[in-house]
Amino acid sequence: MAEKVVIIGSGPAGWTAAIYAARASLEPLCIEGEMTQENWDLGRPPLGQLAITTEVENFPGFPSGNLESYLDDAIADDRRRIMGPHQKEGVSGPELMELMRQQAINFGTRTMMEDVVDVDFSQRPFILKTSNGETIEAQSVIVATGARANYLGLDSEKKFKNAGVSACAVCDGALPRFRDQPLVVVGGGDSAMEESDYLSKFGSKVYIVHRREEFRASKVMAERALKNPKIEVKWNSVIDEVLGDDEKGVTGVRIRSTEDDAKTEDIPASGYFAAIGHTPNTEFLKGHLEMNEKGYLKWSVPFRTNTSVEGVFAAGDVADDYYRQAITAAGTGCMAALDAERYLSLLE
Ligand code: FAD
Repeated sequence: MAEKVVIIGSGPAGWTAAIYAARASLEPLCIEGEMTQENWDLGRPPLGQLAITTEVENFPGFPSGNLESYLDDAIADDRRRIMGPHQKEGVSGPELMELMRQQAINFGTRTMMEDVVDVDFSQRPFILKTSNGETIEAQSVIVATGARANYLGLDSEKKFKNAGVSACAVCDGALPRFRDQPLVVVGGGDSAMEESDYLSKFGSKVYIVHRREEFRASKVMAERALKNPKIEVKWNSVIDEVLGDDEKGVTGVRIRSTEDDAKTEDIPASGYFAAIGHTPNTEFLKGHLEMNEKGYLKWSVPFRTNTSVEGVFAAGDVADDYYRQAITAAGTGCMAALDAERYLSLLE
């Protein structure tokens, strides 16, 4: 028998969709993604991008410190009576994702740890094929497969991930390890300009390392970065190596001139931010759903999560090249579940 709703992906978008769909008695099946080394290395593991990070300081509801100290005495007493004592330091990415997963399962979400490798949206019910060879039929589908950050692919980048190497200034820029320290951004597009500008609020100085002699960013973004007194551009340069040690993490970068291969320079820095774009996890959907030129799924109705195929919805980073935050992914996950619920009610 066909599933009422199948959710592909187990990041904040997928689990939020699952919580809403399960509470609406749609008995969702969440296909979480396969636990393989390749998926980890690519940055698209089960539980999503937050599974590969440390602290999450900007997801509402998880303040650091002793929660009871924030509460009015009567509410704190009540809370202790109902829930027991609470001492909690913020939340880590993996912990936040496990909590979302458990919340979805508690309401009856079923899960399977496979990748979806092929789909057929031309017939009803829809057909999904998984990496273990299973075929699943679905009346509606929510695609929440996220997007993975691009890195240069250096071994040293990999070694210091979460120890000074990041691909998200908005997520990590305000962390203590980056405050009042020199930072390096690699890239030359709008994201690199935006990330550098943002990081200049926290770092003592921001170096943009760019392989050409002009940016490909829009004029207005490039000018803003060039006028920022805290930003210095290293033109015609590529990152040769991220420098660091096991104790301190990133301590700098070695750059190499694109004009003179023998010319290198070491720049001291405690953070290295890759701003060279993202790749949406939509390879298996090519030819099945409309995408933009970068491969992001297109929403076909403003402020709805409908895709180009009726009954298939998209939530989270897979359809969002702009905000790319856990809370926005969760928000569109909620929207997708409500959209799917309405779609299914019209089928009855
Ligand atoms: P993702 O979290 O990317 O999840 C995608 C899911 O789809 C994964 O479960 C994956 O396994 C699955 N999947 C992919 N392909 C398939 C397939 N073919 N079949 C089945 N499953 C598949 N945001 C914040 O708000 N705060 C932060 O502090 C923060 N820190 C970050 C730190 C890092 C290092 C990174 C990389 C990102 C960070 N972000 C942060 C961004 C945030 O993680 C993303 O915006 C958010 O996770 C997007 O959620 P999503 O559900 O759309 O996709």
